[in-house]
Amino acid sequence: MPSHVLARKWRPQSFAEVIGQAVIVQALTHALESGRLHHAYLFSGTRGIGKTSLARLLAKCFSCEKGPTATPCGQCNPCLAIAQGNYLDLLEIDAASRTKVEDTRELLESVQYPPIMGRYKIILIDEVHMLSGHSFNALLKTLEEPPKHVIFLLATTEPEKLPNTVLSRCLHFTLKPLTNDALSQHFNHILQQENINVDPNALTLIAKSARGSVRDGLSLLERCIAFCGGDITEAKISGLLGLADSHSVQKLLDSLLQNDAVSGLTLIRALAEKGADFTVVLEAFIELLHQLALQQVLQKECTVAITSERIQLYYQIALIGRRDLALAPDQQMGFEMTYLRLLAFQPWDDDGDTAPPVKKKLSNPAMNPI
Ligand SMILES: [Zn+2]
Repeated sequence: MPSHVLARKWRPQSFAEVIGQAVIVQALTHALESGRLHHAYLFSGTRGIGKTSLARLLAKCFSCEKGPTATPCGQCNPCLAIAQGNYLDLLEIDAASRTKVEDTRELLESVQYPPIMGRYKIILIDEVHMLSGHSFNALLKTLEEPPKHVIFLLATTEPEKLPNTVLSRCLHFTLKPLTNDALSQHFNHILQQENINVDPNALTLIAKSARGSVRDGLSLLERCIAFCGGDITEAKISGLLGLADSHSVQKLLDSLLQNDAVSGLTLIRALAEKGADFTVVLEAFIELLHQLALQQVLQKECTVAITSERIQLYYQIALIGRRDLALAPDQQMGFEMTYLRLLAFQPWDDDGDTAPPVKKKLSNPAMNPI
């Protein structure tokens, strides 16, 4: 499957299909239904969460022959042309690739002419913060006195880089990163429609790896489909993503608790051979500690005999290890040093020992309250 097919295919075509941005959708719907249109909108938020998709959808709302409407028909010429990316009155600019002032001027000069097909001429500028200072001035002039038929849709990952003069003239919406649940649901829906089986654990892994970005998640999903075919399983996804399965991370923790460096280092070597990403392994380890700490505080059944002090110490060392992993000559070396640091700073005194025992088992759970 060629890259970005899913992202294109599943781009939201109506507000009902936008995921995870309920507040913004509600505000836009309300504004459209009550006929309160603005001449400049700014969408900000991290990459891949649907800023330009939302902007294109809004362009459809403005341009639909039955509109302006919050529910564009999807059938008329403007609706179809916008969906296909060839609507003459929607001018899309990627400021990341066009930063010269002449380009913006050229664009803003064309703004003075009335729209060719529809009621508005709509200018969508992606990554608008990358426009040069001169380009901003040119944009600002038009924003100050926009012709009636012009609507600006601006998108940026870095709104703080925009001058106040631009910000103050825009209706600003900040998109939220998507939650793992929202992404899981969305991907599950897509896979169902594509007739692909997926186990729930695999779905969770994919959603987590997307880190809040629909676009990253969809391109990952494409790789998963290409790799797994019609059946996506946790084991295959772990392999594909270089993730440590939960079993390996648990075994690492066990080796620490038993002061068993040999089995720990053997495990690390095996993970390296499987091509594991050690940043991800450390994150999984940190997550496991977090889960154990919560289990202790909430007095749920804890699966591991470990003191809360030890959890805190491991957590702190693992966090610093993750931060410094990029500084190590290679990932495996960095991870091994973090592992050895976890071993070296073990608080053996907490159960009365003065020297770390070899292959010590925490045999008396009463001394290690759960
Ligand atoms: Zn329409």
